[in-house]
Amino acid sequence: MSENAGAPAGGRSDEKLSAKQIRKRKRREPPPLPEPLPGLVDAHTHLAACGGRSPEAVAEIMDRAQQAGVGQVVTVADDMVDARWAVEAAHWDSRVYAAVGLHPTHADDLDEAARTELEAMAADPRVVAIGETGLDYYWTVHSDDCAEPAVQRGVFAWHIDLAKRSGKPLMIHNREADRDLLDVLAAEGDPETVIMHCFSGDVDIARECIDRGYLLSFAGTVTFVNAEQLRDGARITPDDQILVETDAPFLTPHPYRGQPNQPYCIPYTARALAQIRGVSDQQMAQILGTNARRVYGLPLR
Ligand SMILES: [Zn+2]
Ligand SMILES: [Zn+2]
Repeated sequence: MSENAGAPAGGRSDEKLSAKQIRKRKRREPPPLPEPLPGLVDAHTHLAACGGRSPEAVAEIMDRAQQAGVGQVVTVADDMVDARWAVEAAHWDSRVYAAVGLHPTHADDLDEAARTELEAMAADPRVVAIGETGLDYYWTVHSDDCAEPAVQRGVFAWHIDLAKRSGKPLMIHNREADRDLLDVLAAEGDPETVIMHCFSGDVDIARECIDRGYLLSFAGTVTFVNAEQLRDGARITPDDQILVETDAPFLTPHPYRGQPNQPYCIPYTARALAQIRGVSDQQMAQILGTNARRVYGLPLR
């Protein structure tokens, strides 16, 4: 059956919709496929949340990503169910790699069984990072079932230790917790590679992370109209410490903010970074792709 079965013929149906209905319809619409920018890696995405819960669905998302030049992605867990999805996806499709851990808002879930299972997953060669872990003080205030800050700090320390034991990069989530997060890391001692996913700090925090040797991963937020401060951070990040990510299905880059995000949308953000840093799109893609492959240990493809 055609997708349009039952719908009024032609484009004239829009005229009958209110302006509000048109805006609502547009929000559900995926952004157009960007001009391809080869060599890119999506350093942080959530394939299951994008609808990738079967080998076919994952392949479809990755085929579309590949059309935009995005040959590899790291799909990231935020709870135990999601961690199992992530590892499965990485085994279904050779273009997909996984990161496993408990998002700070789910820190209460780290019981003995979860520790054992995460440790086993961390040893899987398709798992290339530990996370997302870290601190989220936004949801402790705005949600009833978010782990308390003290619990989050303990669970974050456990993930830091797991990253060290497994020799894999630590993938950090930070929301409104800059100082505590950097203090916990300093107290525990850094693993070899620390990635600040969806970097959201000001220039001072950016500089501190850079000085500590961390990688700053920029999401669609760096393209938002009011994100001048983030763009300042992206400007001062050294070539070998910058990454790009979608955090899909969230944080769709400007001018598609609010519409569904997927790994194929990465070139929009990569091109914005090229403009911010005053290099060509191709040079920027080369820098971003090379860094992702180096830190996650991915083959060139
Ligand atoms: Zn996050
Ligand atoms: Zn995420």
